[in-house]
Amino acid sequence: MHLQKGMTMAELYIHIPFCVRKCLYCDFLSFPAGDDVKEKYVEALCEEIMCIGEERCRASLSSVFIGGGTPSILPAENIERIMKCVKDCFMMDEDAEITIECNPGTVDEDKFRRYRECGINRISFGLQSADDEELKRLGRIHTYSDFETGYKIAVSAGFTNINVDLMSDIPGQTVSSWEKTIRTVCMLDPAPAHISAYSLIVEEETPFGEMQKEGKLDIPDEDTDREMYHMTSKVLSEYGYSRYEISNYAKPGFECRHNTGYWTGVPYYAAGLDASSYYDHCRYMNTDDMDSYMREPAAGPFLIEKLGTEELMSEFMILGLRMIRGVSREEFKKRFSVELDEVYGDRIRKFISEGLLEESVMPDSRIFLTERGLDLANHVMQAFI
Ligand code: SF4
Repeated sequence: MHLQKGMTMAELYIHIPFCVRKCLYCDFLSFPAGDDVKEKYVEALCEEIMCIGEERCRASLSSVFIGGGTPSILPAENIERIMKCVKDCFMMDEDAEITIECNPGTVDEDKFRRYRECGINRISFGLQSADDEELKRLGRIHTYSDFETGYKIAVSAGFTNINVDLMSDIPGQTVSSWEKTIRTVCMLDPAPAHISAYSLIVEEETPFGEMQKEGKLDIPDEDTDREMYHMTSKVLSEYGYSRYEISNYAKPGFECRHNTGYWTGVPYYAAGLDASSYYDHCRYMNTDDMDSYMREPAAGPFLIEKLGTEELMSEFMILGLRMIRGVSREEFKKRFSVELDEVYGDRIRKFISEGLLEESVMPDSRIFLTERGLDLANHVMQAFI
């Protein structure tokens, strides 16, 4: 069914699969490529964006996220071209959040100036650590000083909404080096508006996965991981950041709209290699084969799964509980025409009695994870699958 022009509020994700070189822990679809491949890819991407815009009747976008990979590896004119295409093919919400992921060592003054001119209003830096030794162990291409330079240029170009990605559980990392990383980033002037703090997940098919199999990966043990985790929110709150999602912290008013949309079930379209989208209660996926994508960028997306009511309810709970404010009883009833307690009452009562969930009544009735529940979030979420 085609929707009326401008009726749907949705998000758009655009995938740029290029990186200078592969980090040792990375299992995202990203790789180095020559200029000609990048150019052709952007051309294919624009063709796909046009098709999505047409298919979705120029839906309204509340956010656009250009992610990767390393989108900032592309020449600025490529990003301008992509942004022009997005604006031509969709209605943009007046205050749409438009983010681009940047890696230190791939940005300069000209790029940031042009990003702003074409409407991008949020930068997300992949820093991971303020310790050069740790960066080297991760196989990152940059030093902390490269990040600092890029950050300052972004600020002078006028960006006020900047996220910095940080990573704990890096091989050889200690609680004090993690704390030093957090404090160093918080003391930037001006401080970033948003910080994402994830812990390293060792994926099998990566060099880290291999090293782990051979017993050569010295990652912090579970107690250290927990210590780092608890310290993160404590230190960040000292600097005025509130945790609004399990791994995300923001200064007031700077919560990431794009990710919040994802956690609260806003439909999202996606363009690019291996990009996944979700709308009309269905999940879709693009091909992960570069040749096929370049040949026929608009061949996809391919239907992966149609979600039934049960799956939608489960997703509402699992994603919603990631948010610190949790899930709303009213919202559940509005979406599914049934009371939350009729479906999940037994589980909710059990977790409340165990101190893992809590409920609030003002301003609306919500269920959310307690401090202890946040620690055992996976266990709680399992129960809603
Ligand atoms: S920069 Fe990001 S996407 Fe690229 S290889 Fe490193 S972790 Fe992967």
